[in-house]
Amino acid sequence: MVTPLTCRNFIHGEWLASSDGSCLNSYNPANRSEVVAVFPRSTLADVNRAVASAREAYQRWRLVPAPARAEYIYRVGELLGKYKEELALLICREMGKPLVEARGDVQEGIDCAFYSAGEGRRLFGQTTPSEMPNKMAMTVRTPVGVCALITPWNFPVAIPCWKAMPALVCGNTIILKPAEDTPACATKLIEIFAEAGLPAGVVNLVHGVGEEVGQALVEHPDVNLVSFTGSSQTGSVVGEICGRMHKRVCLEMGGKNAQIVMDDADLDLAVDGAIWGAFGTTGQRCTATSRLILHRDIKSKFTQMFQERAEQLKLGAGDQGDTDIGPIINAKQLQRVCEYIDIARSEGAQVLLGGEVVQTGHLQQGYFFPPTILDGVTPDMRVAREEIFGPVVALMEVSSFTEAIAILNNTNYGLSSSIYTRDVNLAFAAMRDIEAGITYINGPTIGAEVHLPFGGVKQTGNGHREAGSTSIDIFTEWKTVYVDFSGCLQRAQIDNR
Ligand code: ADP
Repeated sequence: MVTPLTCRNFIHGEWLASSDGSCLNSYNPANRSEVVAVFPRSTLADVNRAVASAREAYQRWRLVPAPARAEYIYRVGELLGKYKEELALLICREMGKPLVEARGDVQEGIDCAFYSAGEGRRLFGQTTPSEMPNKMAMTVRTPVGVCALITPWNFPVAIPCWKAMPALVCGNTIILKPAEDTPACATKLIEIFAEAGLPAGVVNLVHGVGEEVGQALVEHPDVNLVSFTGSSQTGSVVGEICGRMHKRVCLEMGGKNAQIVMDDADLDLAVDGAIWGAFGTTGQRCTATSRLILHRDIKSKFTQMFQERAEQLKLGAGDQGDTDIGPIINAKQLQRVCEYIDIARSEGAQVLLGGEVVQTGHLQQGYFFPPTILDGVTPDMRVAREEIFGPVVALMEVSSFTEAIAILNNTNYGLSSSIYTRDVNLAFAAMRDIEAGITYINGPTIGAEVHLPFGGVKQTGNGHREAGSTSIDIFTEWKTVYVDFSGCLQRAQIDNR
């Protein structure tokens, strides 16, 4: 039995237990009896302390030149490289994804560090002529202030990095509130930020229950910005509070992503994409493929090829070398997946593969659910419209490109999308007509790169884009500056007419 790790909050450069000493456990989803970490169930007092620490540090941090702030983030990137394997193994144990994917999670953090740090020497504004003589005008970016970063468990390193790194380079101070399922990953990440030498109070970590400390951070009057990734349900709560308080808020929520396969597609390639898109990370990505929209002329061939490949996928713990599909994160999520299978059956869909919790051998110690294919799914069914967040994919038949696009768009979400076709005209029409923040041509719905904007339309988000150069739009305010060197009062729109 491995000894559980002890995690603490990180406030003003100190590692602290919760103010009342209470704790929670995180578990290995591949072996539910294994406690991975014991972490603080933080209180309102802890939240207040962290916000005060971030507020105080902000007054100095905002004055550190941006290229100097970025130097710390370069150092975080180097340290993430040094600890990559250790962190990846921790992700496997606490979150459950296969080791290769866990390494990818850390690599995304490294990529984000170097990309975000580069912004320290850009953060461009504009200069523009004034309409008056002897006067100039410009725009500069200023930090927003204290940022609360509320993150999910599915990318326990990459998502906090996506938020923290640009926030810090832009001159904000941060409080990370990680998911209850992955506190050890967050703790190791913040240890790395601490080792990089960031001044006390610039980076803070508060563990605990979302409805308690997460919401307390959102409601705190001294938190200027909330960046949230998680369920649509929680995102609505966060968005409502921030709306009421006129607070900056960036929401990244659910998806119901689809891959279209046209009759002229390279079917081997399309099957490769569908297997990775639907079952990679056990379907627990916000960009996972949860619908396959198949042209009727290739549907039966594609389905046969897809099913054969899905049957061969191996379930297991993330740190076992040959695992393709890790466990589902926790009991609640497993139950939700089961409920959706019942809903699918009751609505008339057929379960072609999977559909039952795995209860054999050592896999019964964890939350394992096999790759599941639902056939005969029609647009009105709930499994065609609602996010499931598990290794479940719905097959939908169409007879034309126009119908495929209409079905793809028939959801409240709009995160990722994909089309497999060899017809360049259809590819360009799809790029234009698909309602989503991300569209892949001849690639699966998953696979975002950090230097490109990430986010969705409709109810997936609230108009922001993380990653890429657009991330600095989230974490800065524009200031417009006029410099009048005429020595006299010049009235715009009046004195020059
Ligand atoms: P999931 O269902 O995928 O776990 P959640 O949206 O519940 O997604 O959780 C995402 C993050 O939001 C987690 O860090 C969680 O603790 C936090 N959270 C949950 N409820 C609230 C809330 N009411 N206010 C703020 N944060 C919350």
